[in-house]
Amino acid sequence: MTGAGPAGRPLLISVDDLPVAGGGIHTDPAERERITQGLLAVLAKHHVPAVGLVIWGNVKTDADRAILRRWLAAGHELGNHSASHFDLTTTAADAYVIDVEAGRAGLASFLAREENRKLRFFRFPFLDEGDTPAKLDAVRAYLARSGQRNLPVTIDDQDWMFEKPWVEARRKDDRKEMDRVGDEYQESLHVEVRDQEARGDRLFGRPVPQILLLHANEVGAAQWDRLFTWLEKRGYRFARADEVLADAVFKDDPRYVGDASFGLWDRFIALRRARDAQSGVEALLQTQSEAWNRGDLDAFTAVYAEDASFLSPTGLTRGRQQVLERYRRRYPDRKAMGTLSLEVIEARPAQGIEVTPLDDARPSRVHAVSVAARWKLTYPDQPEKKTAEGLTLLVLRRHGGSWEIVQDASM
Ligand SMILES: [Zn+2]
Repeated sequence: MTGAGPAGRPLLISVDDLPVAGGGIHTDPAERERITQGLLAVLAKHHVPAVGLVIWGNVKTDADRAILRRWLAAGHELGNHSASHFDLTTTAADAYVIDVEAGRAGLASFLAREENRKLRFFRFPFLDEGDTPAKLDAVRAYLARSGQRNLPVTIDDQDWMFEKPWVEARRKDDRKEMDRVGDEYQESLHVEVRDQEARGDRLFGRPVPQILLLHANEVGAAQWDRLFTWLEKRGYRFARADEVLADAVFKDDPRYVGDASFGLWDRFIALRRARDAQSGVEALLQTQSEAWNRGDLDAFTAVYAEDASFLSPTGLTRGRQQVLERYRRRYPDRKAMGTLSLEVIEARPAQGIEVTPLDDARPSRVHAVSVAARWKLTYPDQPEKKTAEGLTLLVLRRHGGSWEIVQDASM
């Protein structure tokens, strides 16, 4: 073996969509059995303790149950991957929870019956953890209640994409095409491993353990030996879930809300970008208030975009220069300006996804931030003058290394 030894970087291999992924392609029980034996042989050869995630709704026959028994007998752990593999974005939270619970109940009683083992892990289908805060909270509360831990993925890849072309080529006995598909499978996995390795290490400032997502499919049975050999040469050591999850990087489940299928590092990155954008915008508004309070209207309006729109009860003003002139008319001197305080009620970053050439979703930069705030003008030196206050909605867009206000609706 070319293993890196105990000093290697821990890597958990997780295998989704048991009993056999891409079930529509593999209906012949003998073929399903052959795929399973192929997968288990490679795992045994490389001493990999894997976690297999089961779609309970696809466990239909005695042959399917026999496949799960093989995984257990080989020393692997099985976790819940729901009954019907729903996408949380397109499913209501209560229907989703009912389906995940059906998967849990089915697999848990199977495990208890077979081996007196407990079910510990759940993997979100499509890695989609909720596109609204309410959904995210509802499913997390259910998982906590039912004693299931979200088993994250750090190396999200598209290994499943290669299954169909692989099986088509193999059924035609087209060796050349099988080699081509196999090479592309390896290459795409290499790119993802290198990429997520760099992202995770940059994020935490040290070599962090990884969790690789693979699927229980035929192309995997044919390609894992080559892949695992490459991983070992790269310095990875196949580790158990408990060892990998004990690392501090897995302590917190990041509260990323969105409809994208990201790995864990990308969730952290997306949240950090949102936080940075919010604090950048708040710092800018603070600077702006300070400019107001020293009577510097030029600096106060410098943060407006050249083509900014300013809406107020008295009408619409277009352009930074016009906004400045409006302020000059209404606040001709320092005395008229008073003291401004701006309290941010909420700041919402606008952030979507980018798609890599390998068809992987990644969090985008934060392109804009909308801010709801309460403004207040006080006149401490002029007791006869009443405090003025109101609300404002600001839309800020990234401009160079900073932010600028493109729309301001103040009332
Ligand atoms: Zn899946």
